[in-house]
Amino acid sequence: QPAAKPKVPAAKFSQKEKDHPPPPPAEVREPPSADRRNGAIYQMGQCLGKGGFAICYEGRLAGTKQNYALKIVKSYMPQKKMEQKFQTELQIHSKMRHANIVQFHRAFSYEKCTYIVLELCPNGSLMDMVKKRRYITEPEVRFWTVQMAGAIKYMHAKGIIHRDLKMGNIFLDKDMNIKIGDFGLAALLMSGKDMVAVRRTTLCGTPNYIAPEILEKNKGGHDHAVDIWSLGIIIFAMLTGKPPFQSTTADEIYRRAREREYDWPKLNTSENFISEETKDLVAALLQSPEKRPDPDTIVQHPFFTCGWMPDSEEITPELRDEAPS
Ligand code: ADP
Repeated sequence: QPAAKPKVPAAKFSQKEKDHPPPPPAEVREPPSADRRNGAIYQMGQCLGKGGFAICYEGRLAGTKQNYALKIVKSYMPQKKMEQKFQTELQIHSKMRHANIVQFHRAFSYEKCTYIVLELCPNGSLMDMVKKRRYITEPEVRFWTVQMAGAIKYMHAKGIIHRDLKMGNIFLDKDMNIKIGDFGLAALLMSGKDMVAVRRTTLCGTPNYIAPEILEKNKGGHDHAVDIWSLGIIIFAMLTGKPPFQSTTADEIYRRAREREYDWPKLNTSENFISEETKDLVAALLQSPEKRPDPDTIVQHPFFTCGWMPDSEEITPELRDEAPS
C-alpha cells in the first residue's frame, strides 16, 4: 500500500509589503469593554518580527509591569484568503488555554488595525534557537518534546488540528518552556462517532450544508495525525539543524516525504549525538497516518527514558552538552 501523501500546509500567500500595517504609534489605546470599563493603553516597544501579513511588537500595559506580544494586522484585508486565515486564527486561538500554548489575552481595533494581545515569548522560536546553536541536544529535545506532546494532546482533545506545526511557530517563554503559536492554518474538528474534519471554509457555516464527499474524504478520522507527522519533522530538525526531506523544489520534498527518504548524519565528533531510540521515535512519527502514535503513546517511548531528562532550570539558551554532575 503506497504511503499516504503527507499533508503539508499550504504555502504562505504571496504578499506585498503594503499588506503589512504601518509601525504602530508609541501608545496604542484599547477601547473600553465590559471587563475594562476605562479601556487600556499599551506602550509600544521593540518590533518582535514580521509574519505573512502581521507585525509583532512588544507592548507594556500602562500602569503595570506586564509585557505582551501585540500582533498587528490591517483591519481591512483586501484578500479574502488572508481575512479568513485571520478569522480562523482568532476563533481557534482564543479558545486555547494550556501551559505550552501561547496564551491569547484579547483582541481589539485601533486606528484601522486589529491588535491581538498575546503572551510574550522573549526567547524567540525554536527556529531561532537552531539557527543560533546549529543543533539542539537530545536531553533538551526530550524536555521540549514532552511539552509539545502535551500541547498537541490538549488541542486534539478540543477538536483542533494545528496543521502548521514547525520550528518557526514554536516559541520559548522566559523560562525556556515551549509555547505553540500561530493558529492561522488550524482546523476545527467536530466530534461525532468518528472525528469528522470540517474544512476551515465551513467553520462559520452549518454542518447541514457540507457535501458528503467532504466528510467522506476524512472518513478515516486520521486528520489530526498531520500534527504528529510535523512533530517527527521538528524532532529531526532540532537534532540535525535541517528538516529530513529538505530539497530545492517542493515536488522533490513531497516525493522524498512520500518515500520516507531521509538520512541521519553520520556521527562525527563535531556533530550532535543521535541515539537509536531517537531514530526509532522519529520513524514511528513518520509512519502512515493510522499508525502514528498519539501523544500519550509518544511520551512512553524509550527515547524519554534512555538518557538524561533535564529539569526546567537546566534548560538554558546556551548550548550545554553534559548532564550536570
Ligand atoms: P506568521 O505570520 O509568519 O505566522 P506571526 O505574524 O504570527 O508570524 O509572527 C511574526 C513574528 O513575530 C514571528 O516570527 C515571531 O518572531 C514574532 N512573534 C509572534 N508571536 C510572538 C510572541 N508571542 N512572542 C514573541 N514573539 C512573537
